[in-house]
Amino acid sequence: MKIIMLGAPGAGKGTRAAMIAEHYGIPHISTGDIFRANLKAGTALGLEAKKYMDAGELVPDDLTVKILLDRVSQDDCKEGYVLDGFPRTINQAEVLEEELEKLNDKIDFAIDVDVSDEVIEERMGGRRVCVKCSATFHIVHAPTKVEGVCDKCEGETILRADDAPETVRQRLKVYHEQTRPLIEFYKNHGILRMVSGSGSITDALAAVIEVLNQG
Ligand code: AMP
Repeated sequence: MKIIMLGAPGAGKGTRAAMIAEHYGIPHISTGDIFRANLKAGTALGLEAKKYMDAGELVPDDLTVKILLDRVSQDDCKEGYVLDGFPRTINQAEVLEEELEKLNDKIDFAIDVDVSDEVIEERMGGRRVCVKCSATFHIVHAPTKVEGVCDKCEGETILRADDAPETVRQRLKVYHEQTRPLIEFYKNHGILRMVSGSGSITDALAAVIEVLNQG
C-alpha cells in the first residue's frame, strides 16, 4: 500500500501518517523530518534546507526529490509507505509518478486532510517542541505540566522558527499556491480520498481506514 498524505501544514497529516504506517506495518516517510534530522546532524543538506524552512518556503524540488527517491528505494519500502509532506508541488508529484512507472508501480491513494486556515494558525502558533527529545505539546490543547519544560525529559520547549505566526501565514500562502493544486491532480487520477482534520484524533485512524476500504 503506497499512500500520500495531503493537507496544509499543521492539518494533522503527520499524526495520521504515523497511525496509518503503524496499522499497515509500513514506513512513515516525512521529508520535513528528514530535513530536520539532517539539520540536527549538521549536514550540508540540513543547512541548505534550513534557509528555506525558517522562511516558510519550500526546499527546491531537485534537493527534495532526490532525498525522497533515495528513501523510497530502500528495502523497507518494498511493501509500501506513507508519504507525509511529499509531494508538495505538481512537479514533485510528476517526477514521483514517472519514477514509479519505471518500476511498474504506482501510488494507491492520496488522502487529503481538510482543515481551515484559521484552525491551522491557532494550532501551529500554540505548538511547542522540546529542543532535546522533539516531543510536541500545545499551550492550550496539550500543555506541559510546567510552562516551557518538557514533561518527558525536562528539556526546554520552544516555538519552532517555522511555527512563528508570520512564518505560518507564509507557509499557508505557499500551500495554497503550490501544494493545493495536488488535490485536483490526484482527483483526476481517481485516487483522491478526503478526511476531515477537525475531528477527534482517536477516531482519525478509523476514519482513514473507512475511506480506504471504500476502494
Ligand atoms: P513539514 O514538517 O512537512 O511541515 O516540513 C517542514 C518544512 O520542510 C517545509 O515548510 C518545507 O520548507 C520543507 N519541506 C518538507 N517537505 C518538502 C517538500 N516535499 N518540498 C519542499 N519543501 C519541503
